[in-house]
Amino acid sequence: SDSHFPIPISPDDVDLSQHYPRYFPADKAEHGDGDGGAEAEAPRIRFADVGCGFGGLLVGLSPLFPDKLMIGMELRDKVTEYVKERVLALRASNPGQYDNISVVRTNSMKYIPNYFGKAQLSKMFFLFPDPHFKEKNHRRRVISMHLLDEYAYVMEVGGIIYTITDVEELGIWMRTCLEKHPLFEAVPEEEIKVDPVVKLLSSATEEGQKVARNGGQTFQAIFRRMSLQEV
Ligand code: SAM
Repeated sequence: SDSHFPIPISPDDVDLSQHYPRYFPADKAEHGDGDGGAEAEAPRIRFADVGCGFGGLLVGLSPLFPDKLMIGMELRDKVTEYVKERVLALRASNPGQYDNISVVRTNSMKYIPNYFGKAQLSKMFFLFPDPHFKEKNHRRRVISMHLLDEYAYVMEVGGIIYTITDVEELGIWMRTCLEKHPLFEAVPEEEIKVDPVVKLLSSATEEGQKVARNGGQTFQAIFRRMSLQEV
């Protein structure tokens, strides 16, 4: 249950030096900002892979966006530990690389606002989430009107939310929620075609690879966070 993992009380309480030591060297940790404002702004987490599983997406994205900090959020303890080890091993065998990815064990359906502030994220990923078929379990789905309110809050204007599933019913559900939400609009097909991230949704994730091996169909919905002026 939740009592087994620590929960930051606010985004400022997230210890980034633990996740991204190369970006937050220990000897600088004491100084912070506040002394004159001459220092560059501290980097913040910009991408979140919600329900990241074994971390394939993060590993694929890391070299594409070497200056963006990314985090995977995963509920299962063993799986989270696996991703941690995977990232450490990649860093060890590729010095100077994979320093921008990390993972945290948490329940994303409860604690997104504990991790990210307003307009902090430029990309959010919901790849092959659990389908929760039964009507009474739809409230457990990671995309819902109420959770989209939270995601809209933590995403910057122009930020992109990527969803994909091999379950048609869930694909329709995620698309419908996003279409109904006033703060999201569909990314045009021309943009989707040239977005290098889109290819990774299937090719880099463990679930996507499984579906591809079995020749299964996928359903994606890719939406942009609008500004209030556009509404
Ligand atoms: N995104 C990965 C991929 O495409 O390979 C994993 C997909 S897997 C089917 C769904 C993952 O979401 C599981 O690893 C599960 O533990 C995780 N998960 C389910 N509910 C979650 C929650 N509330 N918070 C964080 N992770 C969750």
